Amino acid sequence: MNRQCEHCGNPLAGRSDKRFCSINCKNAANMARRKATLSVVKQTDRYLHRNREILNTLMGPSRTKMKIARTELDSTGFRYNYLTGIYFNKEGKIYHNVYDFAWMEFSNQEILIIKR
Ligand SMILES: [Zn+2]
Repeated sequence: MNRQCEHCGNPLAGRSDKRFCSINCKNAANMARRKATLSVVKQTDRYLHRNREILNTLMGPSRTKMKIARTELDSTGFRYNYLTGIYFNKEGKIYHNVYDFAWMEFSNQEILIIKR
């Protein structure tokens, strides 16, 4: 069976575990993989930073705790599934961490926001 370089598609000769035709192709392939990984990581970082910025802006400089209507938080573009951690308090309520902030959903369509 003819084997091909995973980067440029040139035919491969030599050892059967060889994946690239040259060191250049190997480096280029690794670079492309790192770049793809970095762009995914950067997008997630942006969402998390934006979430923190939204919470920080809503909270203002003096408060450390507030309640907000879920619809109001929705309108900011807050991404509920981007979190830095999850914490269960002793009553079993779930706190969703976004860096130094946490939010908790109330049953009455309200969100409690806490700054740690
Ligand atoms: Zn190649």
